[in-house]
Amino acid sequence: MKCVLLGSGGMMPMPYRSLISLVIRFQGCLYMFDAGEGVQVGLKKVRLGIKPLRVIAISHLHGDHCLGLPGILMMRAQVPEPGLLTIIGPPGIKRFVLQLKEILGFVLNYPISFIEWDEKAPEIAYEDELVRVIWGTLKHTTFCLGYRFEEHARPGKFRPDSAIALGIPKGPAWGKLQKGENVTLENGACIPAEQVLGKPRPGRNVCYGVDTIANKALYRLCKDVDIAFLDGMFMPEHQEEATAKGHMTVDDAARVALRAGARKAVLVHISPRYTDEDLNKLTEAAVKRFGAAEIGRDFQSYDIGLRDE
Ligand SMILES: [Zn+2]
Ligand SMILES: [Zn+2]
Repeated sequence: MKCVLLGSGGMMPMPYRSLISLVIRFQGCLYMFDAGEGVQVGLKKVRLGIKPLRVIAISHLHGDHCLGLPGILMMRAQVPEPGLLTIIGPPGIKRFVLQLKEILGFVLNYPISFIEWDEKAPEIAYEDELVRVIWGTLKHTTFCLGYRFEEHARPGKFRPDSAIALGIPKGPAWGKLQKGENVTLENGACIPAEQVLGKPRPGRNVCYGVDTIANKALYRLCKDVDIAFLDGMFMPEHQEEATAKGHMTVDDAARVALRAGARKAVLVHISPRYTDEDLNKLTEAAVKRFGAAEIGRDFQSYDIGLRDE
């Protein structure tokens, strides 16, 4: 599993920093979180392709998080038969996309499935054979969603001695069992995979929570994640301004990650006022609170290895 920041900035695109967008590559599929202006340029730059893009999850309808949608939707229509795209987001996301499509008159060669938050929405916003996406309502100046991206639990470790004891011949049957599939032996006996596997191993998970101050939902989305991508828009001395604008300082964000048990925090949605030279100061302030915190930079990528416990 690989997370790539296509942009790390907030508010407006700058010559030195693109607007926030995170793309997660998993088993050849792409899942995108937020699409700031010009996001398609970033995606081209990292050469991950556009066809594998399955899901775009939008946090809220502020321009710096969603104005990249028309560009990316049109770019995806340049490839033959790209297949279904799912767009997840706040109330109004469907109207936003469909009206843009109508006014701009662009034609898409693939269907879009919209998953729009409402009060009765279940905790799981989206699920496929690989992952699920959980959402929660954050606290910003407008309605804003945070996300938790979870790989499904993986089958437990294969125990060859158990397989031998059950008389399962080495070969394709072992392979199937290792993947968690049940097998039927030649003598007609059905062997459930659990009989030869250890307990299921937890999947990897990532939190994406920007444009918010700390709230319960953010802690829940962040709980024990491998990486938390969090709003760290300001230096701690701008606490008051940050809170008034519905954002966190790097210290606030590092504290959330630490308390929630995140293994690593990457702070993003950096204010345009900070140039690259200022990022060291932001890093210092974050690390003071949580040693595994860092400031995100455009095109940085983060590999998440398998968990084995
Ligand atoms: Zn923003
Ligand atoms: Zn915002």
